[in-house]
Amino acid sequence: MIFHEMDIFIFIAFGVAMWAQSKVQSNFERYAKVGAKAQVTGLQVARKLLDEHGLYDVKVELSKRGSLSDHYDPLKRVVRLSQPVYSRASVASLSIAAHEVGHAIQHAEGYAMLKFRSLLFPAANLGSRSAPILLILGFVMKFSPLIGIGIGLFSVAVLFQLATLPVEFDASNRAKKELYRLGFVSETERTGVNRVLNAAALTYVASAAIAALQLLKFVMIFAGGRD
Ligand SMILES: [Zn+2]
Repeated sequence: MIFHEMDIFIFIAFGVAMWAQSKVQSNFERYAKVGAKAQVTGLQVARKLLDEHGLYDVKVELSKRGSLSDHYDPLKRVVRLSQPVYSRASVASLSIAAHEVGHAIQHAEGYAMLKFRSLLFPAANLGSRSAPILLILGFVMKFSPLIGIGIGLFSVAVLFQLATLPVEFDASNRAKKELYRLGFVSETERTGVNRVLNAAALTYVASAAIAALQLLKFVMIFAGGRD
């Protein structure tokens, strides 16, 4: 396992991931400075969108985990927004607040891919933690069953990452549509919304690609070692 032909693709995917991550940061900073003409904060937009969908009992809270820690908590049914998103009226904060509400709506509607993803979560979590150890041990000891189990567990983790993609794209699409439909963003502000949300989507694509390529590499080594 010194150098494998798949490593070049994994390396490229890592590059894309890093570039996308920097894009998320720079687009956020850029559009956090652009005040939305609607002059409403992320909190107000989130509240309005939730109410529009009858989700009066879903709360909107301030996230204490720092910048870009915005998320929807399906267990507590809470949309948590980071400080600048929560309290400012920028194009960036509106975009992110609406995206997180998109997840709350998916949850309420029983969106199939979200359910599938939740179903995979326990096994995927176990897989991403234990598969690397099992694979290293398996390859070092040249013990096929251990490699097989490692690949199996890692596959679930990869599947989880792939299932994340439609969930994220769908939440962003809902956000874009709703912001425009309810008049929170103007025609000219739509470019900013797209840039903020598309950069975030690309980070998910890149991490899924890294995981899928790594899986392919393990399978190739495993298959190659057996004949
Ligand atoms: Zn999301």
